[in-house]
Amino acid sequence: MAREKKDVRKDREYEALKESLRRRFINAAHVMWGREINELTKNEVYQTVAATAKQFITENWIKTNSAYMERGEKQVYYFSIEFLLGRLLKSNLMNLGIQDAVEDVLAGLKIDLSETYEEEPDAGLGNGGLGRLAACFIDSMAAHRLPGHGCSIRYQYGLFEQKIVDGNQVEIPDNWLKNGFAWEYRKPDKAIDVKFNGNAYMKKMDDGSLQVVYEDPLTVMAVPYDVPIVGYHNSTVNTLRLWNAEVNRDFSDYGMLTKEQRKKKSEYREFVESITQFLYPDDSTYDGRRMRLIQEYFLVSAGVQSIVRHYKKAGLNIHDFAKKIAIHINDTHPALCVAELMRILVDEEGLEWNEAWAITKNTMAYTNHTIMPEALEKWPVEMFKTLLPRIYMIVDEINRRWLIDVRERYPENEGKVHALSIIQDDMVHMARLAIVGSHSVNGVAKIHTDILKSTTLHDFYEYNPRLFNNKTNGITHRRWLMGANPELSALIDKTIGSHRWHRHPEQMDILNDMVDNKPFLAELEKIKKLRKTALAAYIEKHNGIRVDPDTIFDIQVKRIHSYKRQLMNILHIMYQYHRLKTDKTFTMLPTTYFFGGKAAPGYFIAKETIRLINAVAAKVNADPETNKTLKVVFIENFGVSIGELVYPAADVSEQISTASKEASGTGNMKFMMNGAITLGTLDGANVEIREAVGGDANCVIFGLKAEEVLNYYATGTYSAWDEYNTDPDVHFVVDQLTDGTYGDFHSLFDYLVHENDEFFILKDFRAYAKAHEEVYRRYKDRYHWLRSSAVNIANSGGFSSDRTIEEYAKEIWQVKPVVIG
Ligand SMILES: *Cc1c(COP(=O)(O)O)cnc(C)c1O
Repeated sequence: MAREKKDVRKDREYEALKESLRRRFINAAHVMWGREINELTKNEVYQTVAATAKQFITENWIKTNSAYMERGEKQVYYFSIEFLLGRLLKSNLMNLGIQDAVEDVLAGLKIDLSETYEEEPDAGLGNGGLGRLAACFIDSMAAHRLPGHGCSIRYQYGLFEQKIVDGNQVEIPDNWLKNGFAWEYRKPDKAIDVKFNGNAYMKKMDDGSLQVVYEDPLTVMAVPYDVPIVGYHNSTVNTLRLWNAEVNRDFSDYGMLTKEQRKKKSEYREFVESITQFLYPDDSTYDGRRMRLIQEYFLVSAGVQSIVRHYKKAGLNIHDFAKKIAIHINDTHPALCVAELMRILVDEEGLEWNEAWAITKNTMAYTNHTIMPEALEKWPVEMFKTLLPRIYMIVDEINRRWLIDVRERYPENEGKVHALSIIQDDMVHMARLAIVGSHSVNGVAKIHTDILKSTTLHDFYEYNPRLFNNKTNGITHRRWLMGANPELSALIDKTIGSHRWHRHPEQMDILNDMVDNKPFLAELEKIKKLRKTALAAYIEKHNGIRVDPDTIFDIQVKRIHSYKRQLMNILHIMYQYHRLKTDKTFTMLPTTYFFGGKAAPGYFIAKETIRLINAVAAKVNADPETNKTLKVVFIENFGVSIGELVYPAADVSEQISTASKEASGTGNMKFMMNGAITLGTLDGANVEIREAVGGDANCVIFGLKAEEVLNYYATGTYSAWDEYNTDPDVHFVVDQLTDGTYGDFHSLFDYLVHENDEFFILKDFRAYAKAHEEVYRRYKDRYHWLRSSAVNIANSGGFSSDRTIEEYAKEIWQVKPVVIG
């Protein structure tokens, strides 16, 4: 009886919510477009739904901001040069708890909400894993009521759109802002001046003190665009602040200008507007171009200045700064936060160096994302000094004092100085600056942190082991499971009998009780088939390729990079195809292989790999003798939204990077959470996924171990030529790169055979082929396969970014939740 009453009340509340949504929606259409709903284009409908959602969001946003201002609780600012947000409408409606109501209301107006979602362009302000991690983190911070904000750049063009033309990648500019960005709020009154170039020097004042002089700087105006970040079913709305570069306020003051002055002025405009125009499309490699350094300082200076300004406006004491503010440096791109905060504290706030340094160190924390030497940022001193004269003076002074400590610790050991110096061989080393200026340095998976300590950052670790800690990456299960796979999410709700796991994903482990329950497994199987069918429909529509959802979906989606070894995957497919064609005794289970991912525009080997995948796909898919058993699909333009369709559809998750090279990976977690079985090396978070699922029974591990790889590098004893000549299958398949079977791929042949196969593809090939045989053996046993799938889902809660963020909050930032309202 009591329950029924509650249900009646709930029904009434729901009806009232729908009525309010309907009125707000129709009203928004009138205000925005001056028209009735049925006259709107699909895109206008999308914008109107977004505007309706914003009416709910902004109320709490204002409340959140004033609570943070009044209560003076510690705030976190997460600096990242990338935030790969994807779309926001669905996740915002989900977080607000009004998704069903909006769907119902729109259905009543003959509008399909899922079609409306498709109208939103992806905010592609990132390349891949690193930017997506930042996006997951701000989602989890808001979900857990943590006062945490993102700081980044409002790139006018996001990561390029990828088209495949005749098998080749073609890059199209991603003009994502062309219809406006519904979720941003321009705040011109909060603009900040950022200064470049000019001359900086110390001047002796009359009283004998030293004062900095910074003359003739080039001033760029940074204008913030704020994006609300909505907490899950709570009243918290945090902020992602994206900075846009604009010409200075007095710019339009043309007055009486000479031709020469006019020319200068238009050059200045061009320079300023180019700063935030493009996202650098390189992933995992360092690109020493000057504009990137300009972008980095632009982000850092605007961000840190605005934090200090806001802090002082709240009436807080600058001496307490580190007690109230945590700044996180996501990879080295924002490492200049260290020097910028020093500049503000010393030059503008007049603090003594030592106190400013203590505050800075206690404020900053740094996450390392790679051990790949080619990704470590370092800038030529000349370039750095010219562009950022005052910042260079500060970095130089930080380094001078740091090396005094180093020499005291290691007397007569210039080798240590060489290894630890921030400025070395006329280069400014960004990772070293970040480490020296932070109170915490973390890696992103256990094995990665171990390699940092033992190898990459060993000298820093030895100097101060307590600095180092691990924070294994995570993904927001709200986007990647609840949003991307609503059927699976509903099954989990029903099976657990509660929604608590939405906020406490570790409770998914209750599902471990169900992994032998046949009806449960049958439902899982149905859901997987549904997701595979949805992906198949997308592929048929977009690629014109028909794929069979009853085949194994074996998927590798991620940036195309040599160390991720898409080349090994496609070589193995070439091998299987050859066996199918020539060997009647060869058996495999019918499989559809999917690839997806973008190559950096200048990355030749990555682009050749895409060309090879498409060449193999064209040949294999057209062969009626084999194409019931083997198909290959390259999914164009992989990004967040396509990922939401892809990850839930996988049976097999390809995580085959050369051991030691993938710091963590997060795609591996998205697949696992949706019930795919990991086929992978012992690299990054694969190691922890294997542990979580109880070892090799529920994942398939193969290949060289990190230790073996590092040992080969150290001793230089690997010979690809020997591999090529000792394994006849390897020999045969590699020869197919040049014999015309698929076209001319001398590029890849030379890379493997003559340039010694940097990532051990030939060495791991045999083990990789065996791992696929193991997959077939397991897949044939439907019950055990589904059981494994269930075990993966049940134990994926620890890979939610909610867990990661709680660790950051407690162990690095020392911030506590703030309850709003
Ligand atoms: C998760 C994700 C990645 C990272 O994938 P990895 O397999 O960890 O490299 C890259 N791009 C997109 C769009 C993603 O969603």
